[in-house]
Amino acid sequence: MSTIDGLPPLRDVITRHELRAKKQLGQNFLLDLNLTSKIARSAGDLSGADVIEVGPGPGGLTRGLLAEGARRVLAIEKDPRALPALAEIAVAYPGRLEVIEGDALAIDPLAHVTPPIKIVANLPYNIGTELLVGWLTPPEWPPFWQSLTLMFQKEVAERIVAKPGSKAYGRLALLAQWRADARIVMILPPEAFVPAPKIHSAVVHLTALPEPRFPADAKILNQVVAAGFNQRRKMLRASLRGVHPQIEALLEEVGIAPTARAEEIGLEQFCALARAVAAAPR
Ligand code: SAM
Repeated sequence: MSTIDGLPPLRDVITRHELRAKKQLGQNFLLDLNLTSKIARSAGDLSGADVIEVGPGPGGLTRGLLAEGARRVLAIEKDPRALPALAEIAVAYPGRLEVIEGDALAIDPLAHVTPPIKIVANLPYNIGTELLVGWLTPPEWPPFWQSLTLMFQKEVAERIVAKPGSKAYGRLALLAQWRADARIVMILPPEAFVPAPKIHSAVVHLTALPEPRFPADAKILNQVVAAGFNQRRKMLRASLRGVHPQIEALLEEVGIAPTARAEEIGLEQFCALARAVAAAPR
């Protein structure tokens, strides 16, 4: 069977290298190269960019990224069993694929890539949120990456793009939307993966804004949002009591009813509250 790149079909690669999926590594593989190319295209023009991919596995998405013209791909994979399969892809694309074996949570990829940098990955479900939060909270803004194109469980994707008043709205939505544009660009049924997970998945595309949508100190904003959503059923005057002794007056100052709950409050109001907290003497 012919493929997008003349390399063997992924099913054959998996059989030949005995890459039986391991649940503890969050392994659900995409075998359709037309689909992985489509995901690669949803990351925009890759031709002038270095791409960081977390968890290439047998290399379906890696091949999509390279076939769609990524300048270089840096792939970080924890499972050593996948390395021989990835080495075959590196041979087919000389100088364009570097593979690092290890834990993406512990590896600093920056020495291996040159801007502009895009991150594209079908993330292992058990570390997906932790990686995203790390990428969204760098020491400086703008971050080292231009965009993130990431596959999550659909329920996590919905939390990233959620708006006030919805059940999915919370810390992740505010964190993502404060300094990035976030949208769901693709929804995939369980059958798209081998083995098929129980749930649907979704690809989220996030583009870094040059500066935050509304000014606020990152630490204080995070503190206010965390306190508000840790007790999301409580009124803000109660859930934010620990944030500032005069919280009720500060809420009123920025036009938030002290009896409101965190899930009713939009990003702009949270930023205004964070600024008021920062400016108020204790
Ligand atoms: N990209 C492949 C695809 O789309 O078919 C595989 C995706 S699979 C959902 C997740 C991949 O992440 C697996 O290959 C797994 O071995 C790898 N992985 C799991 N934990 C990891 C970690 N901490 N660091 C790097 N890779 C990891």
